[in-house]
Amino acid sequence: MTAATVEGQNANLNPFFIAQRQCDAAARYLPQLDPGLLEFLKRPDKLITVEFPIATTSGEVRNFVGYRCLHSRIRGPGKGGIRYHPDVTPDEVRALASWMTWKCAVVNVPFGGAKGGVVCDPKSLSSEDLKHITRRFIAELDNNIGPYTDIPAPDVNTNAQIMALVYDTYHMMHPGQNNLGVVTGKPVHIGGSLGRREATSRGGLFATLRALERSTVGGTGDLTGLRVAIQGFGNVGGLAATLFHEAGARIVAVSDSRGGIARPDGLDPAAVHAHKIDTGSVLGLGGCTDITNEDVLATECDILIPAALENQLRGDNASVVKATMVVELANGPTTPEADAIFVDRGIVVLPDILANAGGVTVSYYEWVQNNKNEQWTEAEVNAKLQDAMGRATDCVLDKQRAVNDGLDAIQAARVERGVPEAPLGPIDLRTAAFIVAIERVAHVALDRGIWP
Ligand code: NAD
Repeated sequence: MTAATVEGQNANLNPFFIAQRQCDAAARYLPQLDPGLLEFLKRPDKLITVEFPIATTSGEVRNFVGYRCLHSRIRGPGKGGIRYHPDVTPDEVRALASWMTWKCAVVNVPFGGAKGGVVCDPKSLSSEDLKHITRRFIAELDNNIGPYTDIPAPDVNTNAQIMALVYDTYHMMHPGQNNLGVVTGKPVHIGGSLGRREATSRGGLFATLRALERSTVGGTGDLTGLRVAIQGFGNVGGLAATLFHEAGARIVAVSDSRGGIARPDGLDPAAVHAHKIDTGSVLGLGGCTDITNEDVLATECDILIPAALENQLRGDNASVVKATMVVELANGPTTPEADAIFVDRGIVVLPDILANAGGVTVSYYEWVQNNKNEQWTEAEVNAKLQDAMGRATDCVLDKQRAVNDGLDAIQAARVERGVPEAPLGPIDLRTAAFIVAIERVAHVALDRGIWP
């Protein structure tokens, strides 16, 4: 794909363009990878567009556009969330679906990648409107989702209650069989897994702790006393504040779409949650200073956690970051230009396809429980998650070391294959994670064979 073919004015901020650049960066270190296979792996299998009306509670008929992208089913059924946001675009959905494929491979759960979204502003819609949008969207997707083909989950502005509606709508259309596995992130009393609500944030905590134990960032082996700033105080960012605080970190700043708050001595996450429920925002909490979202990114801290949307850390603002480690709980928060600045400045980025993989990991556990009609204890789920995130983090850290120690051999293999390019430099953790993922997906693709 070239810049001329991507949508939007600034190709550098097109998430699908970025996702493809990330694959290309990793593929340079995989000299045996067939270029045609790489091209296939970079592109989604299909993108469905649906358009539908709903009768809103304000008495008008409004029309909506929704998308579902299946990127890959090479390693298992497609898996990925549903997002409700005014900025949803086909290329955003394509990018998010492809990141799901790579994420599932990094954490080694047997799913492929998918993602969906409806272009809408939930803040301007009633809960009844959102219910109708959900039911109609799922009905329009018809058999493009299913427990063994493509399995949705929550994402930005969707939650367990919406997943209950996804399940119910699909079940109404496919009665007489166990359909619980068609969607994950459901309420616990409707087949949801204990621990799923916290799983993305808890998985990020486990990955961070493992990276610290392995001295990925100098001078510290655990979170005790480390200062953490979090952008986004929703499902993922809000629970990350609670869990990182419980693990001994000091939460010095948080933000939501309206702005942020700071307290260098440390915020009490429980008070922030209560204030957000009362007022709809984190702004204005007593004892804290109101700041802008840009200020949150520039906060004096050890760990910065983007947990909102894509493209928050870019070439034009990466230099303001003061953290030594960025833990990407959002999908796609960092552009390649910002990555390059972080490498130059020695800032370690735990990439999204590793750091936020806890959500899909426990979604997989939910799907297994649904298929077996079981309910595991929260302790069992968390122990499995800890093990999975520890192994995935080790794998990515080990891959980085192996590649950087073996650059001469990789370069020699490239020359042998006649690749006319500049010598390879050392890789960061994002490229290491992509190498792990592409190797795993390509291995399965080749062993299954290119159909027919
Ligand atoms: P959410 O809707 O619950 O929360 C999003 C939060 O971001 C809200 O607090 C919102 O106010 C805030 N926000 C939006 N725009 C912002 C901005 N410009 N600056 C600061 N804050 C802003 O969504 P979520 O489920 O917490 O998802 C957050 C991120 O995590 C997304 O990138 C999502 O794809 C990713 N993610 C979510 C899951 C999951 O299980 N929910 C799993 C993996 C990755």
